[in-house]
Amino acid sequence: MTQSFSELSLSPAIERAVAEMGYETMTPIQAQAIPVVLEGRDVMGAAQTGTGKTAAFTLPLLQRMLKHENASTSPARHPVRALVLLPTRELADQVADQVKLYAKYTNLRSTVVFGGMDMKPQTAELKKGVEVLVATPGRLLDHIEAKNCVLNQVEYVVLDEADRMLDIGFLPDLQRILSYLPKQRTTLLFSATFSPEIKRLANSYLQDPVTIEVARSNATASTVEQHFYRVEDDDKRGILKQILRERGLKQAFVFVNSKLGCARLARSLEREGLNTTALHGDKSQDERLKALDAFKSGAVDLLVCTDVAARGLDIKDVPAVFNFDIPFNAEDYVHRIGRTGRAGASGLAVSFVSGRDARLMGDLEKLLGKKLELEALEFEADRRPAGRFNDGQRAWQAPADDDTTERREARASRERPERTAAPGRPPARAPRAPADPLFDKPYEPSAASDAPPSWEVAQRATTRTASPNIKTRKKVPALFKSAPAPAPAPVPEES
Ligand code: AMP
Repeated sequence: MTQSFSELSLSPAIERAVAEMGYETMTPIQAQAIPVVLEGRDVMGAAQTGTGKTAAFTLPLLQRMLKHENASTSPARHPVRALVLLPTRELADQVADQVKLYAKYTNLRSTVVFGGMDMKPQTAELKKGVEVLVATPGRLLDHIEAKNCVLNQVEYVVLDEADRMLDIGFLPDLQRILSYLPKQRTTLLFSATFSPEIKRLANSYLQDPVTIEVARSNATASTVEQHFYRVEDDDKRGILKQILRERGLKQAFVFVNSKLGCARLARSLEREGLNTTALHGDKSQDERLKALDAFKSGAVDLLVCTDVAARGLDIKDVPAVFNFDIPFNAEDYVHRIGRTGRAGASGLAVSFVSGRDARLMGDLEKLLGKKLELEALEFEADRRPAGRFNDGQRAWQAPADDDTTERREARASRERPERTAAPGRPPARAPRAPADPLFDKPYEPSAASDAPPSWEVAQRATTRTASPNIKTRKKVPALFKSAPAPAPAPVPEES
């Protein structure tokens, strides 16, 4: 198998761009897919983000499109020839950035369109003419309907993260888009799994595809210090605060498994004086952007989030990640803790494990291929009687109307629209997909955030007012010694 980019006979313009990226050898998906795509074959690839799959399809597509390359300013000379469809704005943005870098020394143009943004600037870009169009399905249909782009010269289609596009309910949109494209084309489909739905999609739209499978890297970075603490559910919040203080952490991500749990935890931490914001699937696009911006700028210290809301977010180098809940899907653990300890920086990943988590921990051990040591933690229980006042703020006691709010949220989180095309009828336009978390800039610790984090301030206040009588030291026992039988598999609220 070819390993070096130089063996591919790519044009000097593309080779130069690859060399500038600093890539030395091809990743497995690149080594397998690039030669096949260069031959013009359809591909069904099992590969995920992080495997180098963007270059795996972009480089050969650019190479093949070079025969159309021209320096004309006329939009007609730059029709859309390659269409890359992705489920979220964030992913679309990421891929479009890479396409731009790889095409940097060619005259091939590219742009990206996605929802949640003003259509006008996107329209202006489209009207100038682009060879590579990266898009989310809903917004692309908006542009097609507005006649902002013509797709009758498309030669290549990439359905990237196809499983997620189906999860979100984009199938009808995809069917519609594909119906606008020339039948004679190369189609590449990438998906994390080959579920029956994905196979059906491939059977309908791919011709004699070459199947390529690349194992997902389940390795966690060695720079991340990982701890699994055996905790009681009721102690999680207190232990979280204790670790934040003891470690002198400035900011952290806190992952929970459900929208309801996320909202509830964020509210109670907020009530206890911690600078917290929540990010979950029931938040509007605007609220999610604000939450993210607040975290990125250092205006909030804790971002409590669910996997679905945080999926694909380009927030890296967070000093610490807490798994307040062990994720239902073991793979999400790798994804969650991948947000810390990047690029050689040290990071901290702390997971709270309760007796109910035996099955999930088993899954995680299987995925990571190693035994996970559970640690006991000395917890300074700090539970004062409800109703005490702390700096004028009522702490450790939920307001009376809390239940009503939570019940409302629980109801809302169960209301999910069905999105299926009626059999035998042309696919209807799908309802708009849930707002994507769309954030361009990577996380950068705020330079301005010299102020101590909220848990330190809260602790100082606590230390001043707490009576010595209410501080107990409690040894937490090792996990599963007397663990009850594993509970039945919980159903994630958001998936
Ligand atoms: P992707 O899976 O396409 O999102 O790529 C994940 C990351 O791997 C991106 O930051 C790429 O720049 C990087 N990458 C892609 N191909 C290579 C390669 N051959 N060698 C090193 N890094 C790569």
